[in-house]
Amino acid sequence: MSTILELNNIKKAYDVKMAVDIDKLVIEEGDCVGLVGESGCGKSTLAGIITNTVKLYSGSVIFKGEDISRFNARKMRDIYKNMQMIYQSPVASFDPEYTLGKSVAEALRNNKSDNLVSELFISVGLSAEYVNKYPGQVSGGECQRAAIARALAVKPEFLICDEATSALDPRITHGILELLKQINEELGITIVVVTHQMEVVKQICQRVAFLKHGVVLAEGKPEELFVKPTEDVKKFLGEEGQVLPKEGVNVQLFFTDDSSDEPVITEMARELGIDFSICWAKLEEFRENVFGSLILNIQEKDKDRVFKFLESKNVTWEVL
Ligand code: ADP
Ligand code: MG
Repeated sequence: MSTILELNNIKKAYDVKMAVDIDKLVIEEGDCVGLVGESGCGKSTLAGIITNTVKLYSGSVIFKGEDISRFNARKMRDIYKNMQMIYQSPVASFDPEYTLGKSVAEALRNNKSDNLVSELFISVGLSAEYVNKYPGQVSGGECQRAAIARALAVKPEFLICDEATSALDPRITHGILELLKQINEELGITIVVVTHQMEVVKQICQRVAFLKHGVVLAEGKPEELFVKPTEDVKKFLGEEGQVLPKEGVNVQLFFTDDSSDEPVITEMARELGIDFSICWAKLEEFRENVFGSLILNIQEKDKDRVFKFLESKNVTWEVL
């Protein structure tokens, strides 16, 4: 895989307040990457830096080998043939006087065949009749699909979405995210989703960067960050402060894609003939896989046999 976007030493302040301060962030071609953080942490500023609509104080934005951060509007027009944006309010991004079909045809520029427009609509899950509708006549989710069709019209290699599903209800959000995932998988388009919704990351992202006060707090595969969080990440996810029993031994087990599908816990109880309690557990679905983690409280006298059993099952675990 090669790198499509690289941010180096990015600094951006409004007045004296630092909004984004990132040493390095690399996005590989074909990935679906989440940039996540709470409101006000600098996500939209960062999205603007990537698309060169927000001016940088220092640093570089290397898109396909070129630093685009100082490109003028004319040079950016060429870049936007390869880099498209999707925003939170799709209706506002369409001309209310134009049918959705006309707006998408406009984006096709030299390629204005009606066939192509309805094909694009169908590819994003809108039937051909939507071509003749106005932005004010469709729902938020449908309008977002039309916005995605318009973005795809230029055959971009890179798509960045800023809170594209934040204004939609959960079921519609799920459908739009499935569409983005399909675009990523089938067309190989690199997708960056900027969001405050952790669900977005779990459903479609292969990589994620957690942003806090404009800084990248952690970066990696979502399942790794969620299943084995550092103290900082726990705080970020709001998971700090688990109260565990003082008696006995607390053992945390991690279930990742290398783990077996065997029912390890019940098997352990049965095979070793021991009792223990489950103090805490989480199971989460990421893209297609389920990952999880579990904290058991076992008795001191059983610990050697438990450790031996866990070794034999190839489970990742640690004593807390
Ligand atoms: P997010 O998208 O994560 O909610 P933003 O990038 O919009 O965050 O904002 C980051 C910080 O920068 C916030 O404190 C916000 O108030 C400030 N900010 C954003 N845009 C401007 C602006 N144009 N002028 C002054 N401050 C701004
Ligand atoms: Mg924002």
